[in-house]
Amino acid sequence: MRDFDVIVVGGGHAGTDAACAAARYGAKTALITYRVDKIGEMSCNPAIGGLGKGHLVREVDAMDGVMARVADQAGIQYRLLNRSKGPAVQGPRSQADRKLYRNAMQAEINGTPNLSVIEDGVDDLIVESGVVAGVVCASGREIRAAAVVITTGTFLRGLIHRGEERIPAGRVGEAPSNELSKRFMALELPLGRLKTGTPARLDGKTIAWDQLELQHADEDPVPFSFLTDRITVRQLACGITWTNAKTHAVIQDNILKSAVYSGAIEGRGPRYCPSIEDKVHKFAERDRHQIFLEPEGLDDDTVYPNGISSSLPADVQEAFIRTIPGLENVEILQPGYAIEYDYVDPRSLSRTLETKVLPGLFLAGQINGTTGYEEAAAQGLIAGVNAAMRAGGSSDGFILDRAEAYIGVMIDDLTTRGVTEPYRMFTSRAEYRLHLRADNADQRLTARARKAGIVGDTRWQAFSDKSGRLDTVRDALQSRSMSPNEVQAMGIEIKLDGRRRTAFDLLSYSQVMLDHLSSRWPELGEFKPADLKQIEIEARYASYLDRQASDVSTLRKEEGRRIPAHLDYARVGSLSNEIREKLSLIRPETIAQAQRIEGMTPSAIMAVLSHMKKLEGHPLPIHQEASE
Ligand code: FAD
Repeated sequence: MRDFDVIVVGGGHAGTDAACAAARYGAKTALITYRVDKIGEMSCNPAIGGLGKGHLVREVDAMDGVMARVADQAGIQYRLLNRSKGPAVQGPRSQADRKLYRNAMQAEINGTPNLSVIEDGVDDLIVESGVVAGVVCASGREIRAAAVVITTGTFLRGLIHRGEERIPAGRVGEAPSNELSKRFMALELPLGRLKTGTPARLDGKTIAWDQLELQHADEDPVPFSFLTDRITVRQLACGITWTNAKTHAVIQDNILKSAVYSGAIEGRGPRYCPSIEDKVHKFAERDRHQIFLEPEGLDDDTVYPNGISSSLPADVQEAFIRTIPGLENVEILQPGYAIEYDYVDPRSLSRTLETKVLPGLFLAGQINGTTGYEEAAAQGLIAGVNAAMRAGGSSDGFILDRAEAYIGVMIDDLTTRGVTEPYRMFTSRAEYRLHLRADNADQRLTARARKAGIVGDTRWQAFSDKSGRLDTVRDALQSRSMSPNEVQAMGIEIKLDGRRRTAFDLLSYSQVMLDHLSSRWPELGEFKPADLKQIEIEARYASYLDRQASDVSTLRKEEGRRIPAHLDYARVGSLSNEIREKLSLIRPETIAQAQRIEGMTPSAIMAVLSHMKKLEGHPLPIHQEASE
């Protein structure tokens, strides 16, 4: 007899979206976590989104996940990153009021039908006939379910390092989870150690704000959720300051006291998010490093100094922080630290995030070697829906591929390549980033997720209305056209080839703006500006996207094609030296195998394919000849 269909262990960012996804699917779900009041806790930086990460949040939202809606109730400094660049690489980001975020997440969890919350620790799994059948709690209680999703973050054998201090903990002030690691070892799940770190927290009342440059929020905050019309939370500025020669001298003089440099830590940390010790030591030529002083809440004086995470002893942290302009008299509320923890090699998972060794056991979040709230939520949603499908007896899996979503990119990277350091999302990881934009996440994913059973009626209605409006705008732009002479009369340079171009086509010319079109066809002004903007983006990318779509379909068709054993990669044009060397060394037997080589790109595969076809006397059509 099962008590629940799905059990989710851990109420962090992966666990909340996993539990909600399973419950939306209709599974009777339990979320078991150490402390109910910590559900939705932000362990480190009080911010959601950013480049690549903002894309993940939008994708979670497009599938009716909770992170974006919660973030919109807590965001205190919205900024659209890369605003001056193309929409494909723009990333929504906001600092968050930690308490508002936690409260909004807890309200969301409590209001989700089919979802019960249990405050307990999970120490072990119940395994029967080779499949998972439930969990054993620290209280001794056994709870049975057909699928279990583990999302324990940094808690597995978590060990905090600060100078010479070693404190077993999942994060500061919370006990680690040691028993589950033992069970994972017994299951022969491959475990490794990773580390991450966090900076000291400062008392904002003791910062000289008047000496600092301020960074303000955007005037027109762009919400995370497709369902949020407007941000109503008060927006705050953050301060900017810099380290200097004195700061660096204090750090250099004490570097061997840092847990990272004393050799006490075996786990690898994220290269792209180095501690201040690393920055000073490895980039010795830089004479200063930027620090953002980010308020942790509207009615909270705690400030998060983004950029100076450290595992130096507390007194050294105080000494170097007080050399920084604006922080000369600062009081430290909590010193920074590094934390080391077990993760499971994600190559032991299938793309549904189910473990290969134990059917019914799913893993999501930091436990899979990632870092970040957004990466965790995105995996949580996928693991949650797949666990619910399994519990419901469905043999369908809900899998997104690299051409559909950043989530597909992340899960493919994790499950095929594994990790050597905590994995975070960057836009550069996605081959199809012109298509995988934050602005069109709903157009890419909402219908797909509705079919899978995880999109509720409210969102579906809003999405259907919007899609209908976008169709009308698209039709309006495609049914109006101008001759080249008319276009030129508006001051826009164009080939006088006699070919009429639709308003939609004209938007692919960089000089043509929506204003040009509205001046010619004033009736376009009746459409919602946001809808016009959306179709404008679509039109600007249309020709690139056609090419991308054709590359995607060619690659899918050709995956099984065998690569000649003696193919001379030196003769394949448009390959980077690194990829050429890897191909020559590994000599993949098929296109599918070549695709799985680390660092391989679709354009490199297209170059190999096109070379093979030329050798066979069937060159690819010209537009499919890709370049690296
Ligand atoms: P968490 O959010 O950690 O949630 C885990 C949950 O599981 C918790 O609620 C915990 O109580 C519960 N739990 C654990 N074990 C059990 C058990 N046995 N039984 C029941 N419940 C259990 N991310 C960044 O992007 N940038 C950073 O700079 C960064 N720095 C970090 C620094 C520190 C010190 C820490 C601790 C984390 C940092 N992170 C950072 C990571 C970020 O906090 C995580 O990526 C994110 O929270 C992972 O989400 P998660 O859901 O996997 O785990």
